[in-house]
Amino acid sequence: MSHTPELPERYVCDNCHSVYAGTVSHDGGTYHYSAPDECAACGSTEFVAFEQYVRHKTD
Ligand SMILES: [Zn+2]
Repeated sequence: MSHTPELPERYVCDNCHSVYAGTVSHDGGTYHYSAPDECAACGSTEFVAFEQYVRHKTD
C-alpha cells in the first residue's frame, strides 16, 4: 500500500514563537508528527500546532 505522506505538521513555540517542523515517526503504515521536545531558541517545552496558532492570531 503506497500512501504519500502529508506535509509535516508544524509547531510554534508558545514562548518565543519559533516555528519547527514536527518530528515524524512511521508507525504501522501511518505517519505521526509530534512537537519537538524543547525549543532550541528558548528551551520552552510548550508548543502549539501551527494551524491552531494561526487561527488564534487571526481571531
Ligand atoms: Zn522558544
